[in-house]
Parts: sequence; structure tokens; C-alpha cells
Amino acid sequence: MPASDLEQIVNLCKRRGFVYPSAEIYGGFRSSYDYGPLGSLMLRNVKDAWVRTMVQQRDDVVLIDAAILGPPQIFEASGHLANFSDPLVDCTVCKRRFREDHLETRDCPQSMKGCQFTEARAFNLMFKTTAGPVENAGADVYLRPETAQGMFVNFTNVLQTSRKKPPFGIAQVGKSFRNEITPGNFIFRTREFEQMELEFFVPPSEGAKWYEYWCTERLNWYVDLGIPRELLRIRPHEADELSHYSAGTADVEFMFPWGWGELEGIAQRTNFDLNQHSTHSGQRLDFFDQATNERYVPYVVEPAAGANRTMAAFLLAAYDEDVVNDEPRTVLRLHPRLAPYKVAVLPLSKKDTLSPKAREIYSMLSDRYMCEYDETQAIGRRYRRQDEIGTPYCVTVDFDTLEDNAVTIRERDTTEQTRVPIENLVAELTSRLGF
Ligand code: ATP
Repeated sequence: MPASDLEQIVNLCKRRGFVYPSAEIYGGFRSSYDYGPLGSLMLRNVKDAWVRTMVQQRDDVVLIDAAILGPPQIFEASGHLANFSDPLVDCTVCKRRFREDHLETRDCPQSMKGCQFTEARAFNLMFKTTAGPVENAGADVYLRPETAQGMFVNFTNVLQTSRKKPPFGIAQVGKSFRNEITPGNFIFRTREFEQMELEFFVPPSEGAKWYEYWCTERLNWYVDLGIPRELLRIRPHEADELSHYSAGTADVEFMFPWGWGELEGIAQRTNFDLNQHSTHSGQRLDFFDQATNERYVPYVVEPAAGANRTMAAFLLAAYDEDVVNDEPRTVLRLHPRLAPYKVAVLPLSKKDTLSPKAREIYSMLSDRYMCEYDETQAIGRRYRRQDEIGTPYCVTVDFDTLEDNAVTIRERDTTEQTRVPIENLVAELTSRLGF
């Protein structure tokens, strides 16, 4: 059963070292989080899984890594300076601030008597800072609110250097920043987060086809990595939610403990972005198709996902509690690609006689997989710990190992144990993990 309460995951994340509140020793820095030893590995695994599917396994997508700081011109052209705002309302009584479009009624969610809202005003979500050594005399620069603009401004660079032509995509994974009015729900909405975005450039007549294609592909990505289909849905935007240039947008949503929430938006953005940057920069951002002798500005279909939100969804969906040998346990049934550690090497006892062999096995396996070596506490407690952090396999080295050169593989989900000769260990784990 997936977690029904966000606190189950928040507590596990804190207790086991996935995610900590940021700047905790100074009382915390609201709605910022630090990813600990396990969380940083898992977040990286989420991003790697995305790059594997979206770039490595295709021959029509390339990866870039563009700057986080950008000059105002980029965001004037993209429309972010003028339009990237949320409607902010203040409560004049309890002094809290809310996003008007997140309020279900005109009653203050703090349900304090007599609360009164101001009129909504547009609050720009971009973080501005100054470049240059002299305070107040430098140039204004912005922290990117999405990674997408890096792909548009590099369209010609990539086209000329990558030998690709439409339909082709430019992908990017990296940090984005938004001064959210109401961050919250753990790592679901923070002011600093990571995005995984693809801009897929196509001939204008193929926009609708590729939009459908990416909606299906992206939904399947979450299912393939272990989220039950019934906890996911594709929600097409209503006409009044669409940006003026969008020819269709749908969100991939996950059933969070508080209801459906967006993991990813897939938008058919027409040729709006390339046209805007072309007009503002005075540079041509188009494609000449030698086969048809035609020059055109490609349409773009954009699947834009968030790595942190997605990680929260994977954790919630994988969470389970069951009973093994009359003992309750918590287990994260994470897909092996997402699990922080793939294998834990556990000598049965801390005795010097077992450690050298166990370390030898750890060194052999860690050459290939992210592994953990743990020799403290009783073996049962070590298994529980590995179950709770989602490690798919434990390899136990016992006293028989010194005689028969074999070890025990214990499987996380079934707790089944199998004896395997050390010489077959890598092949056995590779076949079970699937990579
Ligand atoms: P929302 O409606 O939740 O504010 P959005 O529609 O503005 O999200 P997009 O601009 O489509 O989001 O960004 C693409 C993805 O980036 C989102 O689906 C989400 O996964 C992620 N994302 C956006 N804002 C945040 C945030 N403040 N914290 C964490 N992830 C975010």
C-alpha cells in the first residue's frame, strides 16, 4: 500500500538521511531542503533515469547544460518579465499570503474569524540579482525560472553542431528558481528545484501528432519505473488554463496524499518561443529543409518534469508496510534504477575472519553498482534498514563462505534467500537487477 500520509515519507526521509530541512541548525530556512546521503543518490537516479530514456535510448535528442543566470533580454523575449506571475492576495487580519488560484473559496484557509483579503495583484516569480563587484551598480540578472529558455537560445548552435534536423529534441536537466508565494507539501513546491525538460522541434504540420506521442511516452515513463497506473492520470488543460500561444497542454498528475498534483506538463508551444527570440535578438532561428527547399520555424512540443516532485511521488508510491516472520517492517519497493543502493554487503558478524572476504566482495560489486557496506548490529536489524531505504538486494557473507566460497542473496520484496557461488555473484545480480 502506498503511503497515505505525507508524514510517513517526511519522517522516513529525515530518519534515514534522504532529505533534511535546510539550515536546520539555524532554525531552518523555510521550504528549502537538503538532500542527504541517500536522497542525493536517489535524486541523481531519477535524473539519470530520465536522461537514459529521453536521450541515451533515442537518436533524435541531444543534451545541453545551459547557464542558470541570464540577462533580462532572454526573459523579456520569453515573456517571463511581463507575465510570469501568480495572483497574490494578502489577508489583512491574519497577515498571511495566498495564491488566489489555489483558494477554493474566499474564506481564509487559516479559518480565522473576520479574515479579509485584498484584491489580487500580480507577483512576479523570478529571482533577480546583480552581476558585478560593485553593489547597486551592477547589471540586473535573473535566475532562470525554467530550463527551457536555454534550449531556445541555443537552437541554432545545436542545429549546426549536432547534425540533427526536425523532428529532433534538445534536453536539459538542472536547477530552476521561482519565488513561490506558497511553497509547501515537503519537496512538492520549493523555491529552488530541479527540472528535466525536453524541447522537441518538429515541422509545423506535425505538432499535434508529436504532442499525442509525448503524452503517451511520458505517462509510460512513470509506470515503467514502478508507479501504479491507477495513481497516475493525464489531465488536458481547460481552454481557460491555456497560455495564449499553446495549442494544447496536458499534465501528468499523481495521486498525492492531498489529491491529484502535477508531476509534469506537456505543452504544444507552436513556434512562439523561437519567433520571440528571433524578433528580440535579430537572429534567424529557423530551419532550411533541403529535401523540400522549404524554410520554416519549427513548432515545439515540451514535456517539462520536476525531479524533486517526481522523487516524492516515487517514494510515496514505493512505501509499504508488511509483516515478515511476525515482525512488522517498512519497505520501500523502489525500482532498482531509483534505489539509492542496489546492493548491501553484510558480513554476518563483525569478526575479523569475515571482514576481509566481505570487503573483497564489496570492492568487486561497487565497481559496478552503488553499494553499501554495513557490519554493525544484528543481521535482522540490518535487513530491516536496507528494506526501509529500498535496497533491492543484500549479500550476506557468513562463516560457511570461508569454506564454500558462496554467499546468500536476500531479496527485498519477498525476503527470499538464495545461496550463490561468489564467482556467479555479479552475473546473478546483473540478471536480477536487469542492468
Ligand atoms: P504548478 O502549477 O504546480 O506551479 P507549473 O505548471 O508552474 O507548476 P511548469 O512551469 O509546467 O510548472 O514546470 C514543469 C515542472 O516543474 C512541474 O510539473 C513541476 O514538476 C516542476 N516544478 C515547477 N515549479 C516547481 C516548484 N516550485 N517546486 C518543485 N517543482 C516545481
